[in-house]
Amino acid sequence: MINEDIRSYFPVLNQEVNGQPLVYLDSAATTQKPIQVLEAVKRYYEYENSNVHRGVHTLGNRATDSYEGAREKVRKFINAKSTEEIIFTRGTTESLNMIAASYGRENVGEGDEIVITYMEHHSNLIPWQQLAKEKNATLKYVELNPDGTLSMDTVKEAITDRTKIVAMSSASNVLGTINPIKEITAVAHSHGAVMVVDGAQGVPHFKTDVQDLDCDFLAFSGHKMCGPTGIGVLYGKKEHLENMTPISFGGEMISTVDLYESTWADLPWKFEGGTPNIAGAIGLGAAIDFLEEIGMDRIVEHERRLTQYAFEQMAKIEGISIYGPTDPAKRSGLITFNLEGVHPHDLATALDMEGIAVRAGHHCAQPLMRWLSCAATARASFYIYNNEEDIDRLVEGLRNAKEYFA
Ligand code: PLP
Repeated sequence: MINEDIRSYFPVLNQEVNGQPLVYLDSAATTQKPIQVLEAVKRYYEYENSNVHRGVHTLGNRATDSYEGAREKVRKFINAKSTEEIIFTRGTTESLNMIAASYGRENVGEGDEIVITYMEHHSNLIPWQQLAKEKNATLKYVELNPDGTLSMDTVKEAITDRTKIVAMSSASNVLGTINPIKEITAVAHSHGAVMVVDGAQGVPHFKTDVQDLDCDFLAFSGHKMCGPTGIGVLYGKKEHLENMTPISFGGEMISTVDLYESTWADLPWKFEGGTPNIAGAIGLGAAIDFLEEIGMDRIVEHERRLTQYAFEQMAKIEGISIYGPTDPAKRSGLITFNLEGVHPHDLATALDMEGIAVRAGHHCAQPLMRWLSCAATARASFYIYNNEEDIDRLVEGLRNAKEYFA
């Protein structure tokens, strides 16, 4: 179990909101940042601030060492073979768009198929929708089981020899479903397709080993794993990245520039045009150190226990509907729900009046909302700093809201 002391590392949690101690249950949208991350960013600006890869001066070298050191931490965290396979981006959305715009444009043609699921976040849906339109390719959706899980039989039916790309989230930001990425990757590969993993809700919550999964690409965001906003990662197998054309041209990403021709820098820099988010990368490195010190296994155990407790407590409230799989082993630490007779936005506002932060809306998953037959839902999401008291406050808040709106 995660020690209670962990909360003391997160200064933002130590405040009152609307006269009540803050209960932060919106970590699937963005997580809070521990002092270790805040200090790493501050230290960079106070002691090292300089552009990377260019200078011969001391500060330039310090900044470059820290930035490239962060890349090595990311490599190790996801067990990539080489730092050549780790590209810093702005976040999951940019990483997925880069794959679609580069690998997708170069490898998908008329009549080919791109396979995704009904549970994808818009960031892992619209880039493929746009690519399919541009190339006259077919975008295929894998149907979900009634409990919001994927069945391997349905996955196998959807992927064919025409499939060029399979793109799926490792964990859903709405249903919490954890998908069998390793098995799906094997099916994709057996048809010659590449596997793209949206790891935005997976990488922060459980061990993600790209060599074990054998996925071709993985995208994730620093801000959902205790790191700063504006920094994310695109992992790609070297054999793909080597053959892909960059999509952002300019400084930092070139080898030679002539009047009418240019050549690109080596991996991974050829995909990092322009001055990167140096402080963000360093902050992400510090976040990884922090998570590794806790241990991903303990994070899984902690979230599972909290989710189980939340399920049990919330299920006692009359009129509550909880979406997604009920088995805590099959889901990550978030609960999406509706309370009969109360609009989720009203519910989130009422909870906020009691200092409890939850999210309400379509969660950037409109096709999934239609599949669930609802316009919007509320969502409480947990991370390492949450505890059972937070769940008790949520449940009490839900009971109060029910009474108020009844
Ligand atoms: N994919 C999933 C499953 C998400 O939950 C999110 C964000 O909520 C994203 C992609 C997009 O992440 P970002 O906004 O950091 O690019």
